[in-house]
Amino acid sequence: MLRTPLLAAARSPRIRALIEAVPATRAVVRRFVSGAATEDAVRVAGKLAADGRKITIDHLGEDTTDAAQATRTVQAYEELLSALAEQGLSEGADVSVKLSAVGQFLPGDGEGVALENARKICAAAEAVGATVTLDMEDHTTTDSTLGILRKLRGEYPWVGAVLQAYLRRTEQDCHELSGPGSRVRLCKGAYSEPETVAYQDKSEVDKSYVRCLRVLMAGQGYPMVATHDPRMIAIAERLAADAGRTADDHEFQMLYGIRPDEQQRISATGTTMRVYVPCGDEWYGYFMRRLAERPANLTFFLRGLVTR
Ligand code: FAD
Repeated sequence: MLRTPLLAAARSPRIRALIEAVPATRAVVRRFVSGAATEDAVRVAGKLAADGRKITIDHLGEDTTDAAQATRTVQAYEELLSALAEQGLSEGADVSVKLSAVGQFLPGDGEGVALENARKICAAAEAVGATVTLDMEDHTTTDSTLGILRKLRGEYPWVGAVLQAYLRRTEQDCHELSGPGSRVRLCKGAYSEPETVAYQDKSEVDKSYVRCLRVLMAGQGYPMVATHDPRMIAIAERLAADAGRTADDHEFQMLYGIRPDEQQRISATGTTMRVYVPCGDEWYGYFMRRLAERPANLTFFLRGLVTR
């Protein structure tokens, strides 16, 4: 019931200013975000690597309308990748990039700028043995993001994409992206979307998730199953086995701070468990989407505010 207002709040500069002004908020945010500095993300990556978990790091930021800010985001990824390499943590690591943070919405040729900036991040990743996955934002960006993905994959075939099961189009997109070498992260979807393009009912989203999983697991690509949902995980494990997949041709992914015990259980089975680790100080939109996802996260936030 609170999902829609919380997702609307995620886009409101006024509510953002209010929430960021509460001193205790930052301490609560730390449950979901590794910290503001590059070193925080590298430290978390080291801790996760120690028990066999892999990482995809998101340098937080979105909806950039300033070219200089987009350039700073690219630099932040370059620094992050070289810091991971210095600590011996870059081989097999991944970074998650929101194209809106690197220029997709800039006036004029935003898409061209985002493509060029994403190319730079891909080059930096390739140099240290890491990969890049393009996060998926709201449905108005899907075609643009998949178009940029196609161009990037011409040069960097390992670039991954995210598909959101709540979108009605996604089963078809899964068919199109299930070819050899295609890395696809399947998630349920985190934005507020209209009924015309997205399933609204949780059970419809879950059914779509399973249909999409079937397509990806039966395909020739590399499915990345991004969910905390025990039912979806069990179904994915069964579909992977049915398709004859082995531990190294698919993986599971979860968000930092969510279900760490389950992360360790999956990692111990030998299949890759990759943790999505956000870093940076632009945490507001990301944090609000986590609150919208689950009443328990909201309760945790409110309790944290009154007990600090
Ligand atoms: P939900 O339907 O939220 O939860 C189902 C069940 O999972 C719950 O009933 C509960 O049993 C369990 N569960 C969920 N959360 C918790 C918790 N905190 N503690 C204990 N149990 C829990 N969305 C996008 O739109 N674009 C992206 O690019 C994107 N990238 C993502 C990357 C990763 C690695 C992950 C994991 C998610 C990403 N998401 C993205 C977010 C995603 O779309 C969902 O909003 C989010 O994962 C919540 O959906 P869920 O599949 O976990 O299931």
